[in-house]
Amino acid sequence: MKINRCIRCGGFYTSDGDVCPNCVTKDNMELSVFKSYLENNVDETSLNNVSIKTGISTPNLNRFLSYGGFEDFEKNFK
Ligand SMILES: [Zn+2]
Repeated sequence: MKINRCIRCGGFYTSDGDVCPNCVTKDNMELSVFKSYLENNVDETSLNNVSIKTGISTPNLNRFLSYGGFEDFEKNFK
């Protein structure tokens, strides 16, 4: 059995995904906050700024970017 370590809370879990079952809801919520923030701020170029405005940590923002679907915005952050 594969044991994963939650990158949000550090807890161990055996289900799939990057975060444990306890953190999934919050993680999905932040992902949708991030998406709607980008849709409303298409000129945003600073992940730091996004982090400050949304309260989502930069490592989490980078992880969300790596999930794909942000191709239109990703170039802004490079
Ligand atoms: Zn967790």
